[in-house]
Amino acid sequence: MASITFKSFVGLNTYSTEKHRHHSIMTPSKYLVPNQLHYRRLNVVAAKSSPTITGRSLRVAVVGGGPAGGAAAETLAKGGIETFLIERKMENAKPCGGSIPLCMVKEFDLPLDIIDRRVTQLKIISPSNTAVTIGKTLKPHEYIGMVRREVLDAYLRDRAVASGATIINGLFTKMDKPEDENAAYVLHYITYNGKVGSAGESMCIEVDAVIGADGANSSVAKSIDAGDYECLLGIQESIKLPENKMQYYQNLAEMYVGSDVSPDFYGWVYPKSDHVDVGTGTLRNKPDIENFQVATRNRVGDKILGGEIIRVEAHPMPQHPRPRRVVERVALVGDAAGYIMKGSGEGIYFAAKSGRMCAEAIVEGSENGRKMVTEGDLSSYLEKWDKTYGPTFKKMGVVDKVFYRSNLGKETVVALFGHEHAQKMILDSYLYKKEATVNHLEGLQLVVHTIGSLVNVNRLNKETTKI
Ligand SMILES: Cc1cc2nc3c(=O)[nH]c(=O)nc-3n(C[C@H](O)[C@H](O)[C@H](O)COP(=O)(O)OP(=O)(O)OC[C@H]3O[C@@H](n4cnc5c(N)ncnc54)[C@H](O)[C@@H]3O)c2cc1C
Repeated sequence: MASITFKSFVGLNTYSTEKHRHHSIMTPSKYLVPNQLHYRRLNVVAAKSSPTITGRSLRVAVVGGGPAGGAAAETLAKGGIETFLIERKMENAKPCGGSIPLCMVKEFDLPLDIIDRRVTQLKIISPSNTAVTIGKTLKPHEYIGMVRREVLDAYLRDRAVASGATIINGLFTKMDKPEDENAAYVLHYITYNGKVGSAGESMCIEVDAVIGADGANSSVAKSIDAGDYECLLGIQESIKLPENKMQYYQNLAEMYVGSDVSPDFYGWVYPKSDHVDVGTGTLRNKPDIENFQVATRNRVGDKILGGEIIRVEAHPMPQHPRPRRVVERVALVGDAAGYIMKGSGEGIYFAAKSGRMCAEAIVEGSENGRKMVTEGDLSSYLEKWDKTYGPTFKKMGVVDKVFYRSNLGKETVVALFGHEHAQKMILDSYLYKKEATVNHLEGLQLVVHTIGSLVNVNRLNKETTKI
């Protein structure tokens, strides 16, 4: 693996890992109820604003070691916070297609050897099996990254540890809220001892603030009564292909649309180093998810013939943020908060970004770990998040409704993707997370092309009806 490079954050101080040696993980003798535990008292000096902490740094627990948790823990540790990262399963490969935008590689200094495939052709296949290949507008250095989650997540966690975070291999179970304004949160967890079926040891830790990065089924969200969200159900099969079949997917990914593969999402084939991930998802018709998966496989057809299914997995994908994402000194990030882009299902980049953004707010609010943080400090991350990404998430909600409404709509939009300006818009907004700019002439061409596509689709529909 390439050498690890660290990003230096504007406004944050780097912090010697030596200062992190002393920490406050506690093993209750047997398993004691919280009020029987003798917790170390928080040493604070009264002040008008947030109290200054003396003799130690602010302590923050990050629950969940996916992209959101790894990015959050690294930023906290670099910013002078005593950081604990709790992950239940280190070798976890979270069910995921693993596509990431180019801007993530740069913004998170990802070494190129953790990227399995660089996709430069994205084939979109319409309900009538008309294929449009997106990619001709890409510059030579541009691509969509394909990663294996076990590789990406482990890399980000390792980097957090190298920055000074303490990693805890354990299952977070519950949280005791502080009795007064500046008292500690007590997080209970069960250590993982690597043996399937054998119970680990019950432990707890006290911290000043908590970041819930524990995904769509977040226990931290439940602990703070953050409220629910609607979830799409995603299913995915990892299929090991013979060498000659894998060649086809060297630098190519596929997306299938149509009511057969999903009433309200798409089917995908995303290539990895030695296999492809084939999946689909649905919000409205979850009981039929397996049929949609079979239909997706059928549409891919001969291209995966002879392949061996090596893994099957399903997982929820949140469709909008939870009603409450910050409660007192607890904040949710990534899937736990509900940051998956509707319609595309993209969440890795948004998880890592929100983790980092939330951690930066804590570092700033605590003045590099010297002061207690408040709900206001944590909420400042929400303001920044909503301002930066809120409008794009809203727009994608509308696109989602229009695109997936009917097979006719899907045919129209896929036909539109044949247009170079449309391709550039889509790719630029995905790769760089920037609003696409279209000049008047390009805009006019797009409108003409859309009308042309609609006429063609109507004609196709009539012809099909005649048959
Ligand atoms: C089928 C499918 C395909 C997808 N494909 C893509 C894609 O191609 N590109 C993309 O950008 N997004 C994709 N997504 C979305 C993406 O996977 C998520 O948005 C992303 O994983 C969110 O990261 P996270 O760190 O917030 O949460 P997660 O990745 O879910 O990480 C949460 C972590 O917390 C740990 N954890 C959970 N509970 C506890 C606990 N109680 N104690 C300790 N640890 C705990 C878990 O083990 C896990 O490691 C896909 C999702 C699905 C379901």
